[in-house]
Amino acid sequence: AEWAAAVAAVRDLPSDARVLLVCHVNPDGDALGSMLGFTLGLRRLGLLRSQATFPGPFEVPPPFRGLPGLDLLVPEAEADPDPDLLVCFDAASASRLGGLVDRLDTAGASIVLDHHASNPGFGYINLIDPTAAATSVVAEQLLARLGVALDAEIAECLYVALATDTGSFRFDMTTPAVHEMAARLIATGISPGEISRRIFDTRPFGAIRLYGDVLQRAQLEPDVAGGLGLAWTYATLDDLARYDQKPYVLEALIDSVRIAAEADVSCLVKQVRPHEWAVSMRSKGAVDVSRVAVALGGGGHRLAAGFTGRGTIDEVMAAIRAELAGIDSSG
Ligand code: 5GP
Ligand code: MN
Ligand code: MN
Repeated sequence: AEWAAAVAAVRDLPSDARVLLVCHVNPDGDALGSMLGFTLGLRRLGLLRSQATFPGPFEVPPPFRGLPGLDLLVPEAEADPDPDLLVCFDAASASRLGGLVDRLDTAGASIVLDHHASNPGFGYINLIDPTAAATSVVAEQLLARLGVALDAEIAECLYVALATDTGSFRFDMTTPAVHEMAARLIATGISPGEISRRIFDTRPFGAIRLYGDVLQRAQLEPDVAGGLGLAWTYATLDDLARYDQKPYVLEALIDSVRIAAEADVSCLVKQVRPHEWAVSMRSKGAVDVSRVAVALGGGGHRLAAGFTGRGTIDEVMAAIRAELAGIDSSG
C-alpha cells in the first residue's frame, strides 16, 4: 500500500511540480548517492524542477565530488521553502534533517526512504525497509516502479550508496539481492574499480600521517562490555590542523580500529568542536551498539551506530563504558 501511494504521489505530479529531495546532515555515500540517483530519475520523468539539498554547510566531501547529479544540489538556504513533494533519504529520524525539518510541515506531501530499524516513519508516506543494505536499495525499487530505466549516471550514484553501506560488499547484509542489484548497476557500463578508488582509496598524503598519530594512541580495554572488549581511539581538531586535513578523512578510520581481534566493540571519537565529539561505534555481533548510541542521544544500526558526545574525551568515554556495562550482550 505504501509503495502504491509513493508511486501515485510522484506520478500524479504535474511536470512543473517542485520536488525537494533531502538527506541526512553530514551526508555519507548512501545519503548522497541514493538522493542524487533518485533526483536524476525524477528528471528523466520530466520533473525538471526537482532539486536536492542537505542540511548544514554546503560542502560535499571531496570523495563525492565526481558524483553524477551534483549540479542538481542547492545549498540549504536556497532550498524550496514549500515544495509540492518532499522526499527524504537515509535519515533515521526527522532531527537528522537539521534545519530542513520544517519542510515536513510545509511540503504538500512527503515520502521517507530509509533502512534504519529505528525510523519512526516520520513521513506522510514511509518506505522503510530495515532488511535493506542501503537506502539506495529502496530508491532503486521505487525508480523501477516509476518506470525509470537505469542509466550509467543513476547507476553510479546508487552503486556508491550500495558500496558504502555494505563496506564494499563485506558486511552481513550483503545478500544475493544486493549482488543482483550491483549486477544491474554494473551492467549499465559503470566502472566499479574506478569508482571505488575515487570514493574509498583516494585521500591527501597528509591523511596517512594523521592516521598514524590517531592509531598510535588506540586503547584496548578487554574488561569493558562484560568482557567482550572495547578498542577505541580519538582524533582532535589539533590532529587535523597539524596535517592540514579536513574531518572527512577520518570517516573510514573506524574500519582500522574495528579490526582488533580482542574487542567486540570499537569506537572512534572525532572532535567537532572543543567540547563536542562525533562518535562512531561498531560491533562484531555480540553487542547492539545502536542501543548504546540511542541511549546517548544518537542512533544507527545494530552493528554500526553513532552519536554526538559532549564534554571532555574522558567524559565521553566514561559515558560509553557506562552504557556498555549495562548492555545485555544476548540482546
Ligand atoms: P558512522 O559511524 O559511519 O558515522 O555512522 C554509522 C551509523 O550510525 C550511520 O549509518 C547512522 O545511522 C548512525 N549515526 C552516526 N552518527 C549519528 C548521530 O549523530 N545521530 C544518529 N541518530 N545516528 C547516527
Ligand atoms: Mn547514512
Ligand atoms: Mn544508509
